[in-house]
Amino acid sequence: MSKELIRLSNCTMAFDSDVVLDNINLYINDQEFLTLLGPSGCGKTTTLRIIGGFQTPTQGDVFFDGVRINDVPPHKRAINTVFQRYALFPHLNVFENIAFGLRIPKVDPETKRKVKLPEQEIHDRVMEMLHVVNLNGFEKRSVSSLSGGQQQRVAIARALVNRPKVLLLDEPLGALDLRLRKDMQNELKRIQQAMGITFIYVTHDQEEALSMSDTVVVMDAGKIQQIGTPEDIYNEPKNAFVADFIGESNIIDGIMRADGVVEIFNRRFQCLDKGFEKDEPVDVVIRPEDVDIVDEAAGQLKGTVTNVTFKGMHYDIIVDFYGFKWLIQTTDFCPEGSHIGIKIDPDGFHVMKKSHYSGMF
Ligand code: ATP
Repeated sequence: MSKELIRLSNCTMAFDSDVVLDNINLYINDQEFLTLLGPSGCGKTTTLRIIGGFQTPTQGDVFFDGVRINDVPPHKRAINTVFQRYALFPHLNVFENIAFGLRIPKVDPETKRKVKLPEQEIHDRVMEMLHVVNLNGFEKRSVSSLSGGQQQRVAIARALVNRPKVLLLDEPLGALDLRLRKDMQNELKRIQQAMGITFIYVTHDQEEALSMSDTVVVMDAGKIQQIGTPEDIYNEPKNAFVADFIGESNIIDGIMRADGVVEIFNRRFQCLDKGFEKDEPVDVVIRPEDVDIVDEAAGQLKGTVTNVTFKGMHYDIIVDFYGFKWLIQTTDFCPEGSHIGIKIDPDGFHVMKKSHYSGMF
């Protein structure tokens, strides 16, 4: 079983009267790949900075391996950080960039004297890191001659070379193009597993979070909305915000008429959800890919296509149902202006407690 490594307990962060983190409770296991996911300004970086020791929470406690570390400065935590702007030293080659931290003398805890690592050990550890990040043979290259992805690998090697127990990564792939981002996502996961350390990753990109993480923490407005595996978060979103942020959902006002019967647009549909009050107002979340297009006459609902966008593997179409616009993903081409019917299976409805979240779409 995984062991808990970091715990944030009732952590609040306020700048003057502005509360940007509101009573966060979170624990992170040893060797876990955990991602903080949410829109800009929701408090991801602040959470990361509290873990790294760059910020002290206004209230609450931070624990590392069971020890309270609120007052432990960043350089005394077994935690390193990789930022989006990773600032390699342009005048040093790849080897010296990675070796940089190893060359700084450290105080021996027993003798209290400053000691330097032997040159051979520095060499071996840098070469080991070059191997981990797949840059064998690059040691003499100038960093300015490297591609963005290669520079990012050097930054990661530099952050890992002094063997932290935790690596914090704040949107580290934000500056890379889409193709390189995808490659680096696989690389990061591989490096994390090869090193057997904890990664805490910040992104606002849901696909990135779902594809790399063991655990995803969805945040909004300084609060944690849901914590779970990528599958849990996608398949069982706890509220309309999570459903929308994770998968561009259609969120419709509904009424739960009975267990397994939900009403939208004055029509009743079978669903799998239970446990609501009779006639309780609810949010009904329907994912664009869970809607089947059928002939108008055979549809449970009938609407008009108002917009079509080709997406490569499918079309995104916008359909107007009784004045409410839905996003639907389909492989069938439906021209603008066409009248269509739709069918939704019972498991295509996700019924949630009302959250008064109006949606991003
Ligand atoms: P982004 O994805 O845009 O980086 P984020 O989710 O990482 O956003 P934070 O950087 O944690 O969000 O910021 C959360 C809120 O706290 C924002 O409204 C930000 O303006 C505010 N904030 C952060 N640092 C400070 C500070 N030093 N002083 C005042 N407000 C701050």
